Amino acid sequence: MRIDILTLFPEIFEAALKIGVLGRAIAKGILQVNLVNPRDFTHDRHRTVDDAPYGGGAGMVMTCPPVFEAVESLINQNSLEHVVLLSPRGRRLDQERVREMAGWKDMVLLCARYEGMDERISQTLVTDEVSIGDYVLSGGEAAALVVVEAVSRMAPGVVGNWESVDTDSFYHGILGYPQYTRPPVFRGKEVPPVLLEGNHEAIRIYRRREALRATWLRRPDLLQNLSKEDLKLLAEIGAEIPPSHKENSS
Ligand code: SAM
Repeated sequence: MRIDILTLFPEIFEAALKIGVLGRAIAKGILQVNLVNPRDFTHDRHRTVDDAPYGGGAGMVMTCPPVFEAVESLINQNSLEHVVLLSPRGRRLDQERVREMAGWKDMVLLCARYEGMDERISQTLVTDEVSIGDYVLSGGEAAALVVVEAVSRMAPGVVGNWESVDTDSFYHGILGYPQYTRPPVFRGKEVPPVLLEGNHEAIRIYRRREALRATWLRRPDLLQNLSKEDLKLLAEIGAEIPPSHKENSS
């Protein structure tokens, strides 16, 4: 997968792209991330990328010409299908959308600053607008990093052991189960004994029950299409589930 990131601050990404899962995916060539600065597509002495908003008002707006030139230079190099603007006005990112985006061969992520980008960029260049939540950041870079982390995690080969993706929160609709590691007792708090006994089926059931418990307590809206086993486990922990959530009879 190739991701181009258009940003006025490429240095924000430099450390993040070198470390951990992302760093390894890039080193292995599974993921290619290319940073593009729209300032490199300006033609004036001050390398201007912003101007005052028409109609007045606070702040500055990123202008069309450098953003168009930068994106068009990428389109000339590759057949680019997805031009994504990070924006609080976009469709809110969730795991379903992340999964969809992980199927894309390439994408360019546009990070705005100031009051945002000239609307004609959205109207003409942009194919998708993504928000990472109902709050406002000072720039799209943190949001772009969220997209890169979440989307690349879904791409085959990026996370070494697929089981860790498969058991992530949201991957199968519900929250993840709690994790423990050594020591077995810490300040009087014990690791649940079932995890130390080596019975894989008992561990599977325990984890499923705890994932369902966490989801019931924190995000009951995610309890949909529950299997017979899920309903039994929820009953064991005293969770009452509305009939509308009991759709899956498997
Ligand atoms: N005036 C804009 C508005 O109210 O929609 C906000 C501009 S914000 C200060 C600057 C840029 O940060 C945005 O254009 C966008 O690229 C990015 N940004 C801010 N909040 C975001 C969010 N929740 N999701 C994605 N990008 C965001």
